[in-house]
Amino acid sequence: MTDTTAGRFTGKTIIVTGAGSGIGRATATRIAHEGGRVIATDVVAARLDALRSELDGHQVETVVGDVSASDTIDAILSAAGDRVDGLANVAGIMDGFLPPSEIDDATWDRVFSVNVTGPMRLTRAVLPGMIAAEHGAIVNVASEAALRGSTAGAAYTASKHAIAGFTKSVAFYHGPQGIRANAVAPGAVMTNIEGTMRSDYAAGMVGPLMQVVLPPAAAPETLAASITWLLSDDAANVNGVVLPSDGGWSVI
Ligand code: NAD
Repeated sequence: MTDTTAGRFTGKTIIVTGAGSGIGRATATRIAHEGGRVIATDVVAARLDALRSELDGHQVETVVGDVSASDTIDAILSAAGDRVDGLANVAGIMDGFLPPSEIDDATWDRVFSVNVTGPMRLTRAVLPGMIAAEHGAIVNVASEAALRGSTAGAAYTASKHAIAGFTKSVAFYHGPQGIRANAVAPGAVMTNIEGTMRSDYAAGMVGPLMQVVLPPAAAPETLAASITWLLSDDAANVNGVVLPSDGGWSVI
């Protein structure tokens, strides 16, 4: 476990999506341990119940809902109240590694609504308050798939490139208003994400690439360290980056 920085988020309210598992859970936990008030949201209620019990005594409020649905965005904003200092868009789903020749509309639409449209809507919802406060940090979770074409299927790869682009747009337009928006690009992380390959063609293409020596899979807490750094004032001069947090995979 990476050491926490005592009090780094004291007095701050941070929204974390996908907080029920993996990287989102580790991020919510670290913020709570560092004194922050966390609005933890996930589509799986039981996971949020478990998180709330584990973080008993800390400031954690939970919102159950699909981040791609507008009523979930409203519920998150209502739980957060007047002040939102940070937003970590962590929730995301894979695409069965379907290549462009095999992608179906339902998979494409679902992956884009969770990985891109949900984060856009939540960002759009928190921005007015952040702009009024002239202060706010947004961190989006991209992927190695935002950097290259060989680590997932077409929908996931396109969605993670899209969220990287959206991050830069927020940084450009709202940086002068005091908002920082950055993304992390994790390599492999030990979580519950669904990694099934639904394409024999993709398995034949991607499989051999996975045999080369890659950095070992990281713990979710390692990613939480990168995400909370970008959310914190320690990263005050960092805006619009897509930060590989992948043990060096991006240079192989
Ligand atoms: P995970 O499955 O362990 O956790 C994701 C959480 O998001 C789950 O609790 C899930 O219930 C929730 N979620 C899924 N869809 C949702 C929705 N529509 N609305 C609200 N919550 C929803 O996965 P993880 O690996 O921690 O993934 C977190 C992020 O990291 C994702 O954006 C993923 O693309 C990215 N990522 C993961 C890896 C990896 O190797 N695990 C690598 C690169 C990027």
